[in-house]
Amino acid sequence: MRNNKNYTDLLEALQNTYWLRSTLGLLGWDEQVNLPPGSAEHRGGQNAFLADLHHREFTRPEIGEWLDALEQERDSLTEDQRTVVTWTRRDYDRARKLPSEFVKRKTVHRSRSYHLWASSRKANDFAAYAPALETTIELAREEASLLGWEKNPYDYHVDRHDAGMTAARIEELFGKLRGPMVELTGTILSSPKKADLSIFKGFDVGRQEAFLRTVIARLGFDFNRGRLDRSIHPFCGGDGADTRMTTRFHPDNPLDAIFSSIHETGHGLYSQGLPVEERSNPLGQAVGMTVHESQSRLWENQVGRSRGFWTYFEPLLRQAFSSELSAISSEELYLAINAVHLNPIRVDSDEVTYNLHILLRFELEKALFDGNLAVRDLPAEWNRLSQEIVGLTPENDAQGVLQDIHWSGGAFGYFPSYCLGNMMAAQLWYTVLEDLPNLEKNFTEGDFQPLLQWLRAKIHRHGRRYDTDQMVKHSTGKPLAPDSLLRYLKERYLPLYQ
Ligand code: ZN
Repeated sequence: MRNNKNYTDLLEALQNTYWLRSTLGLLGWDEQVNLPPGSAEHRGGQNAFLADLHHREFTRPEIGEWLDALEQERDSLTEDQRTVVTWTRRDYDRARKLPSEFVKRKTVHRSRSYHLWASSRKANDFAAYAPALETTIELAREEASLLGWEKNPYDYHVDRHDAGMTAARIEELFGKLRGPMVELTGTILSSPKKADLSIFKGFDVGRQEAFLRTVIARLGFDFNRGRLDRSIHPFCGGDGADTRMTTRFHPDNPLDAIFSSIHETGHGLYSQGLPVEERSNPLGQAVGMTVHESQSRLWENQVGRSRGFWTYFEPLLRQAFSSELSAISSEELYLAINAVHLNPIRVDSDEVTYNLHILLRFELEKALFDGNLAVRDLPAEWNRLSQEIVGLTPENDAQGVLQDIHWSGGAFGYFPSYCLGNMMAAQLWYTVLEDLPNLEKNFTEGDFQPLLQWLRAKIHRHGRRYDTDQMVKHSTGKPLAPDSLLRYLKERYLPLYQ
């Protein structure tokens, strides 16, 4: 049905909540990029007021009535209208079913838990943080129950980040990945060939930024409706109407800025490729974390670490840093770009060992929610499994169980999507290579448009028309599987480390 009053009213309400939500997003960006330290409380007040206003706008009873009516006449709706109704119903019910008393309790605890986590990590004192983590898990269970997932609370948290994904499905995928992944890592690490990351010294930050802006624009990011700024932790926020990316610079580690920026550019290109005129409703929004990460990882790894990419960009990098790079050969540079080394810290890990860190976290999250693991036993279990999966035991809890911010904020079920995103990226890579066999040659000429246009057509323009699994099938013709990731890592790393 083309002219449906309920539907146009619904879209108008979604437009209004979108203005509030995108303004909140902008305030969040500003908090990380610009906010003077003494203004944090002021910003907290602005955030809380706007978030409450957004919640009230989005949970208005009329929205439920329009959804009810539209669901009654579902057969007469267009495909796109059905997409909007289905996903809005999911988001609306989730917002309605959480009593404001619960939301407040959770918000208060999250802030307390974050500060306890940060101070415990600094002091390497897990016991000081453990009671807060226990409460966070109880709240996560309570939230799942309130939404009708009391029997499988972990599935609810997985589904929050990747609609349709379940713990059992992840277990199946990770189960197939684990053995070969551990073996491959061992093979690469046993090579006498080692990348040397200490070769980079004194790279002027201004020139790093100028180089990066050239790279990002060349990949296809539209600076006319997006920005690149600096923050402590790189991120990409906003949407296709106004995309906000950040990065950070270290004079002795130029690769960090390059790869974290290409990663965020992958997110940014996805945002800019979603139908911008539909950005207030599900037709113009991202599918979920796995698909988002597949985009950032594809650009960062399959593209950014390829020979083709560096054939084009190495001369430009050498132009910008002629004396700093004069003693470094092309092979040394390329090996550093593709360095593999065991690191207890997930965020400092390379694209091979990173996956092992995710397998470890998934096992622990699952056990915490199954009731098979008590919080007090978590550090010992972390260390035991870390040795078994990652291949090392962290020196202390600060470098082990306390390293990630995620659990302190109750973000359970989030970690798996990093590895699922890697799987999807590799699967996309082999699919696009079949469609566009000259891709690497395009890269050597600095032409990334064919890849970008392919991703636009296969993924970006579809918004939330598919859930995670459906999107993988739609874009690659096959269900999500670990085979492509293993094949890609072998093809990239084994020749390099032979
Ligand atoms: Zn990312």
